[in-house]
Amino acid sequence: MEKKISDKTIEQWIKEKPIISDMIAYKPVFWVNDALKDEEAATYDNLELTWTDVLEAEERWIRFAPLISKLFPETEKQNGIIESALVELPDMKAAISNIYKIAVEGRMFLKCDNALPVAGSIKARGGIYEVLKHAEHLAVSHNMLNKDQDYSQLAGAEFRQFLSRYSLAVGSTGNLGLSIGIMGAALGFKVTVHMSADAKQWKKDLLRSKGVTVIEYESDYSKAVEEGRKLALQDAMCHFVDDEHSKDLFLGYSAAAIRLKRQLEEKNIKVDKQNPLFVYLPCGVGGAPGGICFGLKQLFKENVHCFFVEPTHSPCMLLGLATGENDHVSVQDFGIDNITEGDGLAVGRASGFVGKVMENLLSGIYTIEDDELYKLLAMLKDSENIEIEPSAAASLMGPMALMAVENGVDYIRNNMLEQCMNDATHIAWSTGGSFVPVDMKRDFYIKGKRLLGE
Ligand SMILES: *Cc1c(COP(=O)(O)O)cnc(C)c1O
Repeated sequence: MEKKISDKTIEQWIKEKPIISDMIAYKPVFWVNDALKDEEAATYDNLELTWTDVLEAEERWIRFAPLISKLFPETEKQNGIIESALVELPDMKAAISNIYKIAVEGRMFLKCDNALPVAGSIKARGGIYEVLKHAEHLAVSHNMLNKDQDYSQLAGAEFRQFLSRYSLAVGSTGNLGLSIGIMGAALGFKVTVHMSADAKQWKKDLLRSKGVTVIEYESDYSKAVEEGRKLALQDAMCHFVDDEHSKDLFLGYSAAAIRLKRQLEEKNIKVDKQNPLFVYLPCGVGGAPGGICFGLKQLFKENVHCFFVEPTHSPCMLLGLATGENDHVSVQDFGIDNITEGDGLAVGRASGFVGKVMENLLSGIYTIEDDELYKLLAMLKDSENIEIEPSAAASLMGPMALMAVENGVDYIRNNMLEQCMNDATHIAWSTGGSFVPVDMKRDFYIKGKRLLGE
């Protein structure tokens, strides 16, 4: 009998959703979400989460700022707020038009999460937030802390000893493990990270140097999460950070929207009908880009257009949304191999919870080949002297995908945005890079230059 995926054969799926044919052939695609509900009337709070949840997350970050400042002196100048710069990319824009022969209309920026302190990637938002929330819960429920107190006392020996009775566990392709491991260990938790086969050696070494237990798997991300979850459930003192289901991770990320709005205001950048905002976010399981998109849609409604980007070999969120089957399907079901050099993006099955929340909020998803990641990374280094990791570079393709691919052009036309593209703001969300060892950064760059034929 022929293999079926949610009651349909691959042929039937392709007939219904022709885009799947290109996806199976690993061709880059640009998918527009028909289910986007973008009228003013759209009820963004008709979801499991609300704006209040985002505000609460930001308040929690503020409560913890004195502690973070104490534990991680590199955050002192930002008063313990873990945040990245928003940097304009005029020279990258010029390089794009030079090399790709595409003129990007509007201004182009990089949201530099590649340089986020403490964890060196976007995971500093979600992962660290969940660790802090859990520590707060434990300390408050044991009457050791109340929410009006100065949280920097959590750095003291008494708290470390208290928290050392508890453990944290997480399944990860690398970066989430780093954020949980670094923050968890700094607070005194015992931390176990279940790493998938694609996780880089330097990440395992870094974690072990902080006293974190790293368990390695020969399988992919989903399996590492599953095994980690199983083991953690057997231990009542263990909290499992569940990348596939966690609302805390999601809300930790979502607070970025509040910060970004402030940064745009500081730069006098308007976001309204005449000045649309386009945000391009690399997507793995979906929590990071989903949380940020959720926050941004609450703030800017139909004037922000969020696009996710996935590797052509790991388009899990796209498959879930395009088929409507969400986490009931995986890329492997369709014969797609889930092998990519984009760290954090090698995910075969998206988060069902995030997929559901994104259903009516996301504008679309484009996919990108690994080779393009290296080219863009090298172009960014040459033009702006900013170093990022390959997965982060996926975001830089966004303006080009939107303006040069037929479906992207249609999106602009159908949303009546043609007249305002010169007043548009494009933000490529650069998700990681600063912790990558120097020799690896150099190898990435050399590879990009070679692919560019330079
Ligand atoms: C984790 C990660 C992402 C994607 O985040 P998800 O929550 O898995 O979707 C993107 N880029 C980098 C560098 C990451 O580490």
